[in-house]
Amino acid sequence: MTATPFANWSFPTAIRFGVGRIAELPAASRTLGMTRPLFVTDAGLAELDITADTIALCRADGLEVTLFSNVQPNPVEANVNAGVAALRAGDHDGVIAFGGGSALDTGKLIAFMAQQMRPIWDFEDVGDWWTRANSDGIVPIIAVPTTAGTGSEVGRAGVATNVETRTKKVIFHPKMLPAIVIADPQLTVGMPRFITAGTGMDALAHCLEAYCSPSYHPMAEGIAAEGVRLAIDNLPKVFEESSDLTARGNMMSAAAMGAVAFQKGLGAIHSLSHPVGSLYNTHHGMTNAVFMPYVLDFNNAAIDAKINRLAAYVGIPDGFAGFYQRILDLREQCEVPHKLGDFVEVNLADRDLIAEMAVVDPTASGNPVPLTIEGAKSIFDAALVG
Ligand code: NAD
Repeated sequence: MTATPFANWSFPTAIRFGVGRIAELPAASRTLGMTRPLFVTDAGLAELDITADTIALCRADGLEVTLFSNVQPNPVEANVNAGVAALRAGDHDGVIAFGGGSALDTGKLIAFMAQQMRPIWDFEDVGDWWTRANSDGIVPIIAVPTTAGTGSEVGRAGVATNVETRTKKVIFHPKMLPAIVIADPQLTVGMPRFITAGTGMDALAHCLEAYCSPSYHPMAEGIAAEGVRLAIDNLPKVFEESSDLTARGNMMSAAAMGAVAFQKGLGAIHSLSHPVGSLYNTHHGMTNAVFMPYVLDFNNAAIDAKINRLAAYVGIPDGFAGFYQRILDLREQCEVPHKLGDFVEVNLADRDLIAEMAVVDPTASGNPVPLTIEGAKSIFDAALVG
């Protein structure tokens, strides 16, 4: 058996990649001057051995770790506020964010909000709003992903739902980028199959939409293309054989690459998925997976040549048609519901609202075909009928 990859990368931040690297967490904390970290994870993960073992290894090294697990999937402001209160009460000197996108984003937002005087929504990713923040008050962050999907571990933003407006908001600050990432594929082995599939499709959606987005960013485009290849080749493997650590590692790379690449732009998969996620509290990645072929179809004329190039690179024959079929096959293999209605009970009265929310979602501007309300409705209708 060949050894699984083991490496140190410094792009876009310091990444310690490889099976077993979780053992380096205490040393990584000390590198950042953290001896009293707040350990942020979600309520489900808090019950699992991987979490107990990780906390135990930190404590065995003398770190004074406090567990904070008041984090729900699709986190809300109240989760962040409770975490900030815990951070202050315990006089913690940093955050270890451990989990999927929900825990990572909440941990990053707690570290960011540690000493801010304004409400969190004042730091939404709009123009230069991030400059309103007191950047000296942000405590250091170590990110430890346990899913392979969002890539939040290498991102400068955190997502939280505003329950009053029922919208997902992206909060941005450059110092929200974790200073150290420990990317240990072993931690992802115990994901339920639905989460393996949904998060893997999320990584693919990030890479695919970034690749298709028409803005000029050749570096991100190259990363996105390789991310698409890794996700398409490895997602079926991890879905069938959860302990395939090489494939798990490749999915972890694809996830990080997606988040690096999507500075180039996202598109209508996300524009539709965000309102559906915030109205019905669905899993983000799985919602993206449901919309993926309908958006490819919608964008066909604008992306045909690009997808032909991508298909050739990935090794898929027949250009756009072959690529489209591979996406359908991949969804079927990973048990992604083909129709929106098989995934979530949609209230048809929400159709107009979803389309209105989609066109003003920040991701809409990256779609290769300008997304109008009529266009968003047509994608929604296609997804409904299947
Ligand atoms: P998640 O973090 O919500 O986790 C889903 C479920 O999987 C949870 O119940 C969790 O306890 C469980 N889980 C996680 N790791 C596990 C493991 N190793 N073993 C067993 N169970 C495990 O899911 P996610 O898809 O990683 O994150 C979704 C969130 O991330 C959403 O809120 C979404 O909006 C956000 N997001 C953020 C970014 C970003 O750039 N910051 C990008 C995309 C999505």
